[in-house]
Amino acid sequence: MSKRDYYEVLGVSRDVDGKELKKAYRKLAMKYHPDRNPDDKDADEKFKEATEAYEILGDEQKRAAYDQYGHAGVDPNAAGGGFGGGGANFSDIFGDVFGDIFGGGGRGGSRGGPQRGSDLRYTMELSLEEAVRGVEKKIRVPTLVSCETCDGSGAKPGTSPKTCTTCQGSGQIRMQQGFFAVQQTCPSCRGQGTIIEDPCTSCHGRGVKEETKTLSVKIPAGVDTGDRIRLSGEGEAGAMGGPAGDLYVQVAVKEHHLFQRDGRNLYCEVPISIVDAALGGEMEIPTLDGRVKLRIPEETQSGKMFRLRGKGVAPVRGGAPGDLMCRVQVETPVKLNNDQKELLRQFQASLKGEKHSPNTKSWFDGVKKFFEDI
Ligand SMILES: [Zn+2]
Ligand SMILES: [Zn+2]
Repeated sequence: MSKRDYYEVLGVSRDVDGKELKKAYRKLAMKYHPDRNPDDKDADEKFKEATEAYEILGDEQKRAAYDQYGHAGVDPNAAGGGFGGGGANFSDIFGDVFGDIFGGGGRGGSRGGPQRGSDLRYTMELSLEEAVRGVEKKIRVPTLVSCETCDGSGAKPGTSPKTCTTCQGSGQIRMQQGFFAVQQTCPSCRGQGTIIEDPCTSCHGRGVKEETKTLSVKIPAGVDTGDRIRLSGEGEAGAMGGPAGDLYVQVAVKEHHLFQRDGRNLYCEVPISIVDAALGGEMEIPTLDGRVKLRIPEETQSGKMFRLRGKGVAPVRGGAPGDLMCRVQVETPVKLNNDQKELLRQFQASLKGEKHSPNTKSWFDGVKKFFEDI
């Protein structure tokens, strides 16, 4: 039995990275997935071939062995293969690749009987303001819902599914495929353990239908990137009367043009003029709840941080709000006309000695010491 080159199977180059590899496999798997191609032997073969190729190339160690020795390097019958046991976990790969669409867990589980639906994940992008204040948003999520016509059984009303004879109802068969001795989903019943002889016409025997539903999600004030909100029972419908999974809304806060957030504190950069820095002044500072005045004392150096207490973010899990940290940047004036330049020259001539430039003095002292130490 000669096998096709795994890279060729997935249609990728030999230096493909993990992300592209996954993408290529995902595309093929979506195309040839048994759920989409019922009773199509050719598609089934292609699906298995792509899955096997991804199982090898998606694993750094196995891919290295394959690159060096070809199929022999990942074949259990070859001498000194060194990669016995282990066995690929089909549902791991499946969950990994399809996680975004179908949620984690393994559909097509091992037995008949009630199965809980998969959890779904939805990534919600929020502006900083929305995350800080809280917001209510409508989202549309693709989901599988139980078929009403057959009550989720997949069998035409009045009939019932029969136990699969290929797998005796377990939904799994043992398969030898290359070096994999793995539990494979039974091809006759596609893991259901039962065969529907008279399928429900509304869902074509699947027991579920794809639908898009609109949900209203309340985002509490203070959430941050990485926070998850669980909507119980809003995930995928369960099979055979099992409970629905949950929907997890994952928060991702977009970058803000003024503020950076670090936990409960906010940071912003504030440009100030040389004159304000030298003589002191008052600045208007934006905060998430309006403008506040910030007094700049005289002799303020660039990079100095001012803390506005309580103008940060109140964390979602409770506690006092953080602070707004303003770092001032002394700005060099630009586009000066000749008169202004002349004034600066006069000003420079008026500076006597080092006492006006504390940083310069300590810097030169440091340089001097540096050369003395050499
Ligand atoms: Zn149905
Ligand atoms: Zn079966």
